[in-house]
Amino acid sequence: ASFERIAQTEEKVKAFISLDEENARARAKQLDEQQSRGEEQGLLFGLPAGIKDNIITKNVITTCASKLLANYKPVHNATAMDRLHASEAVMIGKLNMDEFAMGGSTENSSFHNTYNPWNLDYVPGGSSGGSAASVAAGQVYFSLGSDTGGSIRQPAAYCGVVGLKPTYGLVSRYGLVAFASSLDQIGPITKNVEDSAYVLQAIAAHDPVDSTSADVEIPDYISALTGDIKGLRVGVPKEMMGEGIDPEVREKISAALKVLESLGATVEEVTLPHTEYAVPTYYILAPSEASSNLARYDGVRYGVRADSAENLLDMYHETRSQGLGPEVKRRIMLGTYALSSGYYDAYYRKAQQVRTLIKRDFDQVFANYDVIIGPTAPTTAFKIGEKVNDPLTMYLEDICTVPVNLAGIPAISVPCGFASNGMPVGMQIAGKSFDEATVLRVAHAFE
Ligand code: GLN
Repeated sequence: ASFERIAQTEEKVKAFISLDEENARARAKQLDEQQSRGEEQGLLFGLPAGIKDNIITKNVITTCASKLLANYKPVHNATAMDRLHASEAVMIGKLNMDEFAMGGSTENSSFHNTYNPWNLDYVPGGSSGGSAASVAAGQVYFSLGSDTGGSIRQPAAYCGVVGLKPTYGLVSRYGLVAFASSLDQIGPITKNVEDSAYVLQAIAAHDPVDSTSADVEIPDYISALTGDIKGLRVGVPKEMMGEGIDPEVREKISAALKVLESLGATVEEVTLPHTEYAVPTYYILAPSEASSNLARYDGVRYGVRADSAENLLDMYHETRSQGLGPEVKRRIMLGTYALSSGYYDAYYRKAQQVRTLIKRDFDQVFANYDVIIGPTAPTTAFKIGEKVNDPLTMYLEDICTVPVNLAGIPAISVPCGFASNGMPVGMQIAGKSFDEATVLRVAHAFE
């Protein structure tokens, strides 16, 4: 059914970079046989899944939507992939994204755009645009994305589906191609909150081969979905409901907050005073880490090597010049500059200090509130081409999502209606570290 649906829709949506049909059919057949023998079923038994193309898959080309990795065939799976496999989900294919997860519209893919299933003139968001569009178009039952500054939640909001960024460290990053290692996290994109709880249950676990993986007890996320939020304390940061937020988006969030009140929650305005510094802080730290992480793409160890070069230095230069796209180059230059001697203290260290202040803002609010709610993005999806030549405007779309990554906390985006352009609006629910159970419970009660 998944491949049938893909045949009907993919020409228009273009969510995938590659399909893995032969293996998927073989795996489905194997599961079928297992079922007829009456064997016990895994948590995600038989569910067709799409995987963002920066999560490595054994023997299946993993490109990060970059020309530089167009031929890169990993020799092992990401831990999250192994866990999906063990839960008996079926991998259908690899999904489009902004190159190396840098962007918010999937227009930075080196291969092709992805189109928003609600209206093909619009972007699906990014960087996990293929992951969100594929679920919205009914091609796969769920997908995995990665979120460094909003890349699961923002495309989920733009495509009217559910996207969860877990607490930093809850899901192993082993085999997630690194963008900004102190921020990156893998998470599910699903049609509804219950599915999100199931997929999280399958992928969340301590992983000894990821040194930043947290050794915490994993609660039962599925039984947390009680529908009961009586007495829940909701904080609504005034910085995320004011200037810069589209009035229509604000209206939808206010209406959603009324629903939560009617279910017995108390809703109060709170303040996260350093919010205005979150985007500049993120755009120092993420490019700094990226400039270091992407140094490995030198034409020697991975991917496509430029063959025109006459000596080693030339080869590095040509490989990177030809293999990497303009946004990736911009980030490498920004990051290299911010880390260079003489500027390190002024930019990188300063940004780290501000990151701590942003984290403290959240701690202070969470001392008195269970969740923090606001819009996922300041606008709905925009038209293809509208912002592509204006990186600063594109970066400002991240205002509501990046503070969450800087603080390391979990947050979900759930659909909460449509704007007058017919495009979906997403509401973001953020919680305390490792309190995904509450985040999911609130999202589920609302939905
Ligand atoms: N839009 C943000 C950026 O361009 C977020 C990307 C992400 O979360 N991977 O960096």
